[in-house]
Amino acid sequence: MNPFAAHSREFEDFLYVYPVISRRSEGLSIGINLSLRKECNFDCPYCQVDRTHILEKDREVKFEVLQKEIHLIIQNALNGELWKYPRFANVKQEFKQIRDIAISGDGESTTSKYFFETANLVLKIIEEYERQNLKIAPVVITNATMLHKKEIQEILLTMVEKGGGPWVKLDAGTEEEFKKVAETKISYSKILDNILSFAKLTPIILQTIQFYFPNQVVSFNLKPFTQRLNELQTKGANFRYIQLYTLARDTKVKNLIPLTKEELSRNAEIIQRETGILVKVYS
Ligand code: SF4
Repeated sequence: MNPFAAHSREFEDFLYVYPVISRRSEGLSIGINLSLRKECNFDCPYCQVDRTHILEKDREVKFEVLQKEIHLIIQNALNGELWKYPRFANVKQEFKQIRDIAISGDGESTTSKYFFETANLVLKIIEEYERQNLKIAPVVITNATMLHKKEIQEILLTMVEKGGGPWVKLDAGTEEEFKKVAETKISYSKILDNILSFAKLTPIILQTIQFYFPNQVVSFNLKPFTQRLNELQTKGANFRYIQLYTLARDTKVKNLIPLTKEELSRNAEIIQRETGILVKVYS
């Protein structure tokens, strides 16, 4: 089994926390799912979350349970017990490192009423392990819809100081492309404005997926995408790098087609050349 294909949000009888081996984290990412009933303000065709089956879980987040689950995963990764699970059987040694705690999950976590308390808990836990010389990055995987909010920006900036921060989704170069990949009422220009407001404060990491629809149409074209990035940079946005990747798991819409490794590498080169932003490829 490909260890990167296993991104289940279910682990043992845990309620909120799930361990995944992440290509983009380059090791163990400890995910926190705050969308317990799979709620999200986007409806991306490439989403791996199956919303036809809503879990009958309690919506309440119990922080003592969340805290215990995070500690248990960390302890089990450190003592080696975690790697005995069949899903981690093929994980290479260099990936058996705890890299981050990622507030992520089955929906947009920054819209959750539990987001701030969870983010503060993650920061507290990370500081505890830092005192024991274990560096873990605090990460938030976000679609940028709340990125303009001052209180969200403040906590994300603290995460940046701690070696992590947000991974911000940007999967389109035009309003039309955006509507097809996000299926939301929120406009593309709003997403760009939100990205600009945060990327003016600190260099940010973008996460960008590219794939083909079943009719062979590519999910976004490079020219408008690079133009938007250059416009953002002209207005004062700073980018650390772009994570360019393609489909690796089951998706909501069936028959979507991943790019080949060669296509991704070629597109990464073009984006990097046209924008001057480092592009890392994850195929
Ligand atoms: S924003 Fe993320 S969780 Fe929400 S639908 Fe898109 S891929 Fe799925």
